Amino acid sequence: MIYLDNAATTKPCEQAIKAAEDAARSCFGNVSSLHRLGIESEKLMNSAKKTILKKLGLQGEIYFTSGATESNNLAIRGVADAYKRRGNKIVTTAMEHPSVARTMDYLEKLGFEIVRLSPKDAIDNFEQYIADNVTQDTILVSCMAVNNENGFKVDTEKLYRLVKNANSETVVHIDGVQGFCKVTLKGDLISLSGHKIHGFKGIGAMYCADKIRFTPLVYGGGQQKNLRPGTEPTELIASFEAAVKAYPTDLTHYKELNGYLRDRLSKMEDVYINSPDNSVYNILSFSVLGVRSEIMLHSLEEKEIYVSSGSACSKGKISSVPDAFGMNSERADSTIRVSFSMETTKEDIDALCDEIENGISRFRRTKKCRRK
Ligand code: PLP
Repeated sequence: MIYLDNAATTKPCEQAIKAAEDAARSCFGNVSSLHRLGIESEKLMNSAKKTILKKLGLQGEIYFTSGATESNNLAIRGVADAYKRRGNKIVTTAMEHPSVARTMDYLEKLGFEIVRLSPKDAIDNFEQYIADNVTQDTILVSCMAVNNENGFKVDTEKLYRLVKNANSETVVHIDGVQGFCKVTLKGDLISLSGHKIHGFKGIGAMYCADKIRFTPLVYGGGQQKNLRPGTEPTELIASFEAAVKAYPTDLTHYKELNGYLRDRLSKMEDVYINSPDNSVYNILSFSVLGVRSEIMLHSLEEKEIYVSSGSACSKGKISSVPDAFGMNSERADSTIRVSFSMETTKEDIDALCDEIENGISRFRRTKKCRRK
């Protein structure tokens, strides 16, 4: 099996599996309990928070959530509610994950002014374009660090600086899911997810800088400062920490694989790279013109090669990302997204490219036969 769909989800690493098992066996106390078992669970949680903050290189608080969908909702709806008296405008982008985009639709219905900016309108300096749209009544800027469908990268340190220069009161939220452990992230609020970095599904986090306020989404027993109540899942938290610790820091392997794949694709007729130049190395999107994504995807699947037709979350739904990057429908309909892990090899890329070439000639032959 060749798994090239790591932007959808990753295989849990051995360290994460072991950490979850150890916690389930020996650290099962309730973080809120006053006895020794509770204190041990609290220690485990605090250690995980420290590890995540260290990886981010930031100071502040970590709130554990069920995943980045919840973190995005918590950050955006939480800030909108907490700061609504200060202003009514939110600036975001047209390439966001549905967990951000649908939350923005919801806030729009409540009366917030939502400005959605497309990378195609300022691909070379998107950070400046976003900041140029920030006005005195902008309470929030929400932007992803790395696009999940094509790897396009936003310089979040630059974005943060420019937004604060435009309005120091504007809160900056970053959907850091695809960037965490791969690029530097900077924001007042940052959404993270365990299963994209070889941790488990069902655990995520929201980083929050000091002095940033947000209203909780749910009410309960007062856990996590009352801002995200519910008994903390220590097993999942332990697995998240282990995955963060295990994630490699030297990512040159991705760069090499990316260069190798681009090189092979450049020799194929009718194959076009969709990922903008400024993209992370572990995600590469391309189109095989004339072959619909699903057809190519299932043809690769027959050889046990797993890729994506765009993003797993957009299954059956039309994604806004191609339009945000100015792609025409022919190219959008034939998109293939390949996303690597550290286990991906050049041999995997060769097998993928050989099968794409086989697929292209097979589809061409079939078309010719049909025309006859
Ligand atoms: N944001 C981005 C950019 C993503 O790629 C994803 C998942 O695909 C999410 C948010 C949602 O994360 P989760 O699956 O943890 O809810």
